Amino acid sequence: MKFDILTLFPGMFAGPLSESIIGRAIDRGLIDLRLHNIRDYAFDRHRTVDDAPYGGGAGMVMKVEPLYACIQKVRADRPDATVLLTSPRGVPFTQCLASNLAGRPELIIVCGRYEGVDERVTELCIDQEVSIGDFVLTGGELAAMVIVDAVGRLLPGVLGCDESAYDESFAQGLLEYPQYTRPPEFKGHSVPEILLSGNHQEIAQWRRRQTIIRTAIARPELLDRAALSKDERELAEQSMELSNVQ
Ligand code: SAM
Repeated sequence: MKFDILTLFPGMFAGPLSESIIGRAIDRGLIDLRLHNIRDYAFDRHRTVDDAPYGGGAGMVMKVEPLYACIQKVRADRPDATVLLTSPRGVPFTQCLASNLAGRPELIIVCGRYEGVDERVTELCIDQEVSIGDFVLTGGELAAMVIVDAVGRLLPGVLGCDESAYDESFAQGLLEYPQYTRPPEFKGHSVPEILLSGNHQEIAQWRRRQTIIRTAIARPELLDRAALSKDERELAEQSMELSNVQ
């Protein structure tokens, strides 16, 4: 899959995206990641990319012309690209959106800075504005890295074992069960005995119960859309009541 990132700070990406799973996927050609410096598309001799907002107010706004020119140039080589703008005003970036984006051949991600981007960039060039959470970052670079990481790991061949992407938090709309590895006891805390039993059916049942309990306690709103049996829904309600009492 091809990712093109448009940024004023291309140097920010080197470390996070060159290590571990995503770094290996880039080395193996599963991910083709290109960085484009928006400042290279500024047209004046000071290479200006921002200006004061019309109507007054704090801070600066990213100018439309350099961003428009940069997006058009990159788009010319990426006819099938979906163009995303990182923005706190965007739709929430969820696992569901990540897996939807993983099905596209090309993604262009625009990183905002300052007080944001001239609205005409969105009107003319952006398919979707995406937010990585209800907080404000100094720029869209970290958001773009989050998107590349979460989408990239869903691409075929990127994870060692493709099933692991289907058996984890949010994949089925719920949070994951607790995980343990050796040793069986540490500082008085034991691994639940069922996990040492070798009984795969009972382990699967225990994990399913834990998934429901954990979701009910930490993210009860996820249960509204989850496919639960009558017994599972009762378990969820009991867990929520208990967590409210505590
Ligand atoms: N003035 C803007 C507002 O109130 O919505 C915030 C601008 S922020 C300081 C600068 C840039 O960081 C944004 O244009 C966007 O690209 C990026 N950014 C900040 N928070 C973000 C978030 N939660 N998700 C995605 N991008 C974000």
